[in-house]
Amino acid sequence: MSTAASNVSAVTSDPRVPFPAVTEGTACRARPERWFPKRYGEDSIERHQAVNACKRCPLAEQCLLWALANPELTEHGIWAATTPTKRTYLRQALQARLGTDWVAVVAARRRARTQASTERRWDTRVRPAVPLTAANPPAPVPSEPRHWEPVTPEQAARNRETLLAALRERPAA
Ligand code: SF4
Repeated sequence: MSTAASNVSAVTSDPRVPFPAVTEGTACRARPERWFPKRYGEDSIERHQAVNACKRCPLAEQCLLWALANPELTEHGIWAATTPTKRTYLRQALQARLGTDWVAVVAARRRARTQASTERRWDTRVRPAVPLTAANPPAPVPSEPRHWEPVTPEQAARNRETLLAALRERPAA
């Protein structure tokens, strides 16, 4: 959710768990007033509307982590379907399980997960999923230029760009 509360502008958010990149408008940005209901009780219609919208939001997981890691910025409002009371409870539970600096632990786990998934993606690019044998030759790639055709300067430039992009993506060994 956008940080609509005006008194939070001076507080910086924890850089270890950045807010998820938003590629399109989220429901909370379109109707921020619903995410700051006057009451959080079970009978609050705004609360139910916000919670239900958050449950369908693709950013909910990262949004929740961000909200939990930034208590000063999320003192009020519904964030990732949680009320302030629920967030306090979740922070206490995380602290009891992972220690005072639970944000560092969670951030390190997330980094490790991201790196592992990047490595898996890289592996499938360089290693065929099915082992290549004489009975299982590689399928011809239709768009690949035939080897007797000289590589044009444009193709060479494209190849170089592709290679550099792949190297940039590859995690450090
Ligand atoms: S989970 Fe809820 S508060 Fe978070 S970005 Fe999505 S709609 Fe907004």
